[in-house]
Amino acid sequence: MTLPNHTGVVGAGLMGRDIAGLLANGGLPVTLVDVDPDALESARDDHAALAARLEAGGLAVDGDPASRITYDTDLAALADCEFVVEAVPERLDLKRSVMGDLESVLEADAVVGTNTSSLTAGEIAAEMAHPERVTLFHFANPALERDLVEISGETATDEALETATEVAEAMDRHPVRLQREHRANCLSRLSASIKCAGTWELLEAEAAAIDHAAKNIGFDRGPLEFVDLVGLDVHLATVDNLRVAYGERYAPPEAVEERMRELVDAGHLGKKTGQGFFEWDGETCLLPGVEQGHDVTPVVAALVNEAYRLVEDGVGDRETVNDVLKRGSGGDVGPFDIEAMLGTDFLRETLESRYEETGAGVYEPVF
Ligand code: NAD
Repeated sequence: MTLPNHTGVVGAGLMGRDIAGLLANGGLPVTLVDVDPDALESARDDHAALAARLEAGGLAVDGDPASRITYDTDLAALADCEFVVEAVPERLDLKRSVMGDLESVLEADAVVGTNTSSLTAGEIAAEMAHPERVTLFHFANPALERDLVEISGETATDEALETATEVAEAMDRHPVRLQREHRANCLSRLSASIKCAGTWELLEAEAAAIDHAAKNIGFDRGPLEFVDLVGLDVHLATVDNLRVAYGERYAPPEAVEERMRELVDAGHLGKKTGQGFFEWDGETCLLPGVEQGHDVTPVVAALVNEAYRLVEDGVGDRETVNDVLKRGSGGDVGPFDIEAMLGTDFLRETLESRYEETGAGVYEPVF
């Protein structure tokens, strides 16, 4: 296959602007489209420092990548694109409508990758005339630092999956092909289990105590900082999307969910507004000090439990699931490495006792 002559990204938010930056650094001309001119302006400002940010992410910079990016508020600007990434907010109705609009401007053989975190490519493409052109094309946040793109699509053609794989390689991001479509795929299910278990721990301890404990055992950030990073609004929308497929498995306890919705209503969305569970100074989470420690073994056990579920659901084998977490977190340890370190029996017993106490689906042992 030859690489696309022109690529597009729809949605210039947190993810879309970095995806455009990676496409451009892969030598591919890219047009970034957003309905909001301010989002485009802010992406353009970010791209002024693109080369430095790519280098900081460990990527080799190819010429002046920002010069390969153009900006537009009109999807028609993507008419000759052979590959387009959809990165609009995580709502099925919105994503379907964007897919319909894209289909009306793109050539019949153009491929579309969706960066969805909690839906499937098949669901998003379901109302299209050519759903077989849509694949999952899911990045980990921050996309410039995490060497991973999850690719799947049960309705996608082999050619579409192959195009997505080759574009990911051109972007210098490692493609991982998942075998089955399930809402939230692999990385997002693993991270949903961590974030969900973190919110259940809030019944036992303060947010800062939970996050300090997680960092002390080797997580690069705690589960609640993680929610702040993603955005409380985005996280709660994800929880709602996952409810459709999995019931309450990834939901916070009721009282915590209420508190989170209050934070969202008050405009405290996490990193992007400077305040969520924690205060933020730009990129830095200002985690307050704590006097008392906390045992976060249940969070770790929930993660390993989810890894078993993913293998059971046929999303990937143990090696793939392990690799996805390492790449997605930027660490050296996958869920099955953790199991080997801590012991299967110890983790199962932790789940059993936490499940008995809370009845929370995230702790219901499957191994
Ligand atoms: P975001 O809210 O930061 O950005 C979304 C952008 O889409 C906004 O700029 C908005 O103006 C634009 N938009 C809305 N409707 C549009 C339309 N009809 N046409 C064009 N642009 C439109 O969101 P985000 O965090 O970048 O997430 C985008 C997608 O990436 C979601 O599907 C999300 O689940 C997924 N994702 C997010 C993360 C994360 O950590 N935030 C990680 C991986 C994947």
